[in-house]
Amino acid sequence: MRTPFIVGNWKMNLTLHEVEEFLDAVKGNLPDPKDVECAIAASSIYMDVLTRFCKEETNLKAAAQNCFYKDSGAYTGEVSPMALADMGVKYVMLGHSERRKYFDETNKMINKKVKAVLANNMVPIICCDETMAKRKTYDEMNWVVNPVIEALKGISEDDAKNVVIGYEPSWAIGTGKSASGAEIQEACFLIRETLKDLYGDDIANQIRIVYGGSVNARNVSEIMSQDDVDGVLPGKSSLKAKEFIKIVNYQN
Ligand code: PGA
Repeated sequence: MRTPFIVGNWKMNLTLHEVEEFLDAVKGNLPDPKDVECAIAASSIYMDVLTRFCKEETNLKAAAQNCFYKDSGAYTGEVSPMALADMGVKYVMLGHSERRKYFDETNKMINKKVKAVLANNMVPIICCDETMAKRKTYDEMNWVVNPVIEALKGISEDDAKNVVIGYEPSWAIGTGKSASGAEIQEACFLIRETLKDLYGDDIANQIRIVYGGSVNARNVSEIMSQDDVDGVLPGKSSLKAKEFIKIVNYQN
């Protein structure tokens, strides 16, 4: 009942020419959105190109990698959620571990952004980080559950149904070594239990939980086969159209 969701995170990569080449290459090679919903999270400078493409190639959705929590005003250098929604952006990633690490994003700030994204009728992809140090202590409350609870503070049941939660152990991001299927399932199960505590079983079972951290065409099927995993967030592997096409077509 939860449609698989795969979102490539380009991070701060690719030139305009490479973006155009990528989009040309994926045209006609993406799965039916009823089987797998696909998105690309591009930096804001490519959003115009991406959203125009997505209007024609409706199997692909545009995602932003971040936004501010105000719609407009004197916030030099920031990206407006209202402007993203107006362009046709459907998803906004929030609280990626790189945002937390390099830009000091806090759970409180992420909660404000979640509200702004929902208010603009987009879907937040709320990323929850986990460092190796935290996992070693088995302090489960902190390592994945707290960021989920904090990000969803004040979010209604109706809105909660639409959010996507991303489980992203920072020790697996960009390392070429994904967490194992069992490790991923353990964390995603815990996240779903937390969502059940917050919103009840019915709503928690509708919320999609995705995994990010060295996902590639070889490990995607095993990761997707875990009970509480509804999608993946490939970073490096989403930069080459050929590999992204293989990942999104993992069912074939
Ligand atoms: P990676 O990035 O696939 O390059 O590890 C994943 C992410 O940061 O979401």
